[in-house]
Amino acid sequence: MQTTSLSARDLDVIWHPYTQMQTAPAPIGIVRGQGALLFDENNQSYIDATSSWWVNIHGHAHPHIAQQLALQAGQLEHCIFAGYTHPPAVNLAERLLKILPDNQRRVFYSDNGSTAIEVALKMAIQYWDNKGTRRNKLLAFQNAYHGDTFGAMSVSGRSVFTRVFDDRLFDVHFLEVPTAENISRIINDIKALDPEDIAAFVFEPLLQGSGGMVMYDAGVFEQLLQFCAASNILLIADEVMTGFGRTGKNFAMEYVQTQPDIICLSKGLTGGTMALGVTTSTAAIYEAFLSADKLKTLFHGHSFTANPLACTAALASMDLFIDPACAANRERIHEKHVAFLAELSTHTIIKNPRLLGTILAFEIVTANADGYTNSLADELHRFFKARRIMLRPLGNTLYILPPYCITDEQLDQVYGSIRELLQQLA
Ligand SMILES: *Cc1c(COP(=O)(O)O)cnc(C)c1O
Repeated sequence: MQTTSLSARDLDVIWHPYTQMQTAPAPIGIVRGQGALLFDENNQSYIDATSSWWVNIHGHAHPHIAQQLALQAGQLEHCIFAGYTHPPAVNLAERLLKILPDNQRRVFYSDNGSTAIEVALKMAIQYWDNKGTRRNKLLAFQNAYHGDTFGAMSVSGRSVFTRVFDDRLFDVHFLEVPTAENISRIINDIKALDPEDIAAFVFEPLLQGSGGMVMYDAGVFEQLLQFCAASNILLIADEVMTGFGRTGKNFAMEYVQTQPDIICLSKGLTGGTMALGVTTSTAAIYEAFLSADKLKTLFHGHSFTANPLACTAALASMDLFIDPACAANRERIHEKHVAFLAELSTHTIIKNPRLLGTILAFEIVTANADGYTNSLADELHRFFKARRIMLRPLGNTLYILPPYCITDEQLDQVYGSIRELLQQLA
């Protein structure tokens, strides 16, 4: 019989993501979940206030998703997706295209957010190549995060995450996040680059997640998108984190008029249940790959492309997502956030309190520079863990990004712990 704790066994064999293994505290062993709660080996509950790295939307071990998965597992668990197809993949594509911006026509499956971005970049670059006009440049935002594979890192802002690899990443022209003050300068910069040589612009619409929950204005963003669209620069919307209701609307691109050419989805796509990535495209992009010439094929695919179980989890999540109760929950969270934001604004120890949909964020004022390596992060993480609340700050940026099913009481507990922290820091 195994008597050693999960946490102790882990320390012998596991290498964790984004973790300095020498100094990190032993991980907490989680054995089950229900709603917004996760339970450890001693049956102590933790409130998952950041949706398990932003993926969970309906709560943990949701019975509807679990049941659909169990049924599918008994039918078909996996099948090669070149030359063959299956109901979950086709059903999901049909249902996704119904709720995405109406210019989207084709669904390409992969495994996660980073691969969804890799696929988008390859689609955009090869689109121009297939049309016989090579375009050499790419645009992205400074401080962006699009994933951890090499292509996704290349279009991400250069940072402590990419530092070691910077000279091996391909060149990208980075734009400032648009404001009323800098928008004309940004547009002039793009003009100076020669728009005819720019293949695509990839962006996180309205919200830079890993970059520190940076929120920017839809009006100036729309001006930038309109300019790019008029210049025939392909628009790649990375909705990996903003998709499925996070920002209030179903997709962040619903806040602007200009429609993207390509959309990347993952995270909330399966309700946070299984790994799945989706890259969708317009008819124009798709048609540029149609040819008698095999060299115009999109040569990309993963072993687990369109895994039937992952697609089933996404379909079950979609059932819950389109239920009006889900939108009502998001609205409820938003309203509670509005009230808490007003309260936060009276504290001088914090700055830049902000809110978008179900996400509330602010910085804690410290003597050190803002940013991911700000040493306050570990201290705050410990503080909340001791109160059994899962909040994992990005440097000195603290944010709440809960599953939509979080109850008012649970949310009040999260707010209460933040109140306590601010009192201690003041
Ligand atoms: C998390 C994230 C990714 C990468 O997704 P993974 O599934 O972690 O590879 C890409 N883009 C954005 C905006 C993200 O937040």
